[in-house]
Amino acid sequence: MLVFGHVPGNPVSTTYPDRRALSYAHVHAPIQTGIWGTGENGAVSIVVSGGYEDDEDYGSVIVYTGQGGRDAATGQQVADQSFTRGNAGLVRSCVEGLPVRVIRGARAHTQFSPSSGFRYDGLFRVESYWQERGRSGFLVCRYRLLALDEGRPAEPVPEALREAAAGPAPRAEVTSQRIIRSSAEVRGVKELHEYVCQVCGAVIETDDGIRYAEGAHIRPLGRPHDGPDAASNILCLCPNDHVRFDLGLLAVDDDLTIRRVKDGSAIGNLRLAEGHIPDRSQFAYHRALFQG
Ligand SMILES: [Zn+2]
Repeated sequence: MLVFGHVPGNPVSTTYPDRRALSYAHVHAPIQTGIWGTGENGAVSIVVSGGYEDDEDYGSVIVYTGQGGRDAATGQQVADQSFTRGNAGLVRSCVEGLPVRVIRGARAHTQFSPSSGFRYDGLFRVESYWQERGRSGFLVCRYRLLALDEGRPAEPVPEALREAAAGPAPRAEVTSQRIIRSSAEVRGVKELHEYVCQVCGAVIETDDGIRYAEGAHIRPLGRPHDGPDAASNILCLCPNDHVRFDLGLLAVDDDLTIRRVKDGSAIGNLRLAEGHIPDRSQFAYHRALFQG
């Protein structure tokens, strides 16, 4: 089971003698691979242990290399990496803004590595990802990870290092994401709709089949609205329609007709998915916010 965020009983700076101990603690379950996760769910943790020649560690910024393509015996890169398995997991974490546990191992031999064994160094987010030719000449998957502070002062990163961490101009386009808080309810609704926008039918999909959509709360969360974080109060929308809905440019009637609020014109019907029934009374609340 993939658990995002801190693992209870394992505060930041906890050390572990070996990978087996990390696995028992459920901080990073796989014994061999550096990334724990899948393209479907996201990656919950990574181990930075110097396994890949292209890793770069600047403390609160890590440029991490994906997994795969290495010769098991020599550790040399002998083939291209692709955005599959754990590598796809880190892409999903980037797209969804999910926190990734970072564990550093002594073998990396950087100023940030523990002197022996492994150390849990807290949560990071995947700011961007891309593919480039590694030192070996083969394509590698790369990720730029930034420490999530959570109130603790971040380690200062000298300007020179920060620039170095930004690396050379990537070969392919870089995908950056802001952090989006995504509850299990939101994830569930997006999955029921297969990430298709309920207003316009658009799908945003990477070449590797990772889809992106946003969960929009019909009645907003938090004060003063106090809408519930429940599937019946969530829509699966593309980013444009999410913004239009939140700004009150679009509203939905009880019969699920979508209207432009400005002139009342109907622009279509809300798309439905089996197993997801939006609460009509929340649409009424949303309409009242913008139509008085
Ligand atoms: Zn849309």
